[in-house]
Amino acid sequence: MLLEIDNVTLHYGRIKALHGISIHVNEGEVVALIGANGAGKSTTMRAISGLRAISSGAIRFQGEDISKVRADLRVVKGICQSPEGRGVFPGMTVKENLEMGAYMRRDNAAIAEDMERVFTLFPRLKERIKQAGGTLSGGEQQMLAVGRALMGRPKLLLLDEPSMGLAPMLIQQIFNIITEINQQGTTVLVVEQNAQQALSRAHRAYVLETGNIVKEGSGADLLHDPAVKAAYLGVA
Ligand code: ATP
Repeated sequence: MLLEIDNVTLHYGRIKALHGISIHVNEGEVVALIGANGAGKSTTMRAISGLRAISSGAIRFQGEDISKVRADLRVVKGICQSPEGRGVFPGMTVKENLEMGAYMRRDNAAIAEDMERVFTLFPRLKERIKQAGGTLSGGEQQMLAVGRALMGRPKLLLLDEPSMGLAPMLIQQIFNIITEINQQGTTVLVVEQNAQQALSRAHRAYVLETGNIVKEGSGADLLHDPAVKAAYLGVA
């Protein structure tokens, strides 16, 4: 098991956003977390990446309790997040944004290799290598955010709403790339509103409702689950 979220609660002041959730991610998997607005998906990601402290429970990575480890040191351990709302540095070029993703690394030759890999996955970014991040289209910024997370050479890649704001064709493309990244050996945890795509790509998935995990199963099982269909796939 690569990641284990064990009975985790998290509060924002007095508001309890996570009510004791348990999720695990095995090495090599793509795991999806789906749920409605405000269910706690981004909060779960913040708990894993260390941007927000948990109130109780434990988060283990490769068997080690990292609940109290600083966010930047979690990156060093191999947990890299592509943030919600894209979060590229607007004044920096595409290349500089990608370099930022590798700021904790010192292995320059491998960094150069990984940049080439990002450009192979996203040829569009190579064409725009000197362009400022803030002037890229929404889809290109999304690609850059994923590319930047990959520059950390993650063991676990956390993707928060990678399809947000993208046209249907680009959504398809970004999920194709997620599948490819996974096939190249990176474990992925993806939070998504686009349940259809996420479930059809994920090995396993969890459904989060108001801070509780209410369902889990294989992506295919959840895709055919009547309650999931009605609530998240727009099928009665
Ligand atoms: P969405 O799909 O809309 O992004 P989500 O599932 O990612 O939703 P979260 O952003 O994790 O949901 O929010 C979970 C709950 O925690 C919501 O009720 C939200 O209002 C609350 N919340 C999130 N961030 C804060 C904060 N900084 N302060 C107070 N409450 C917060």
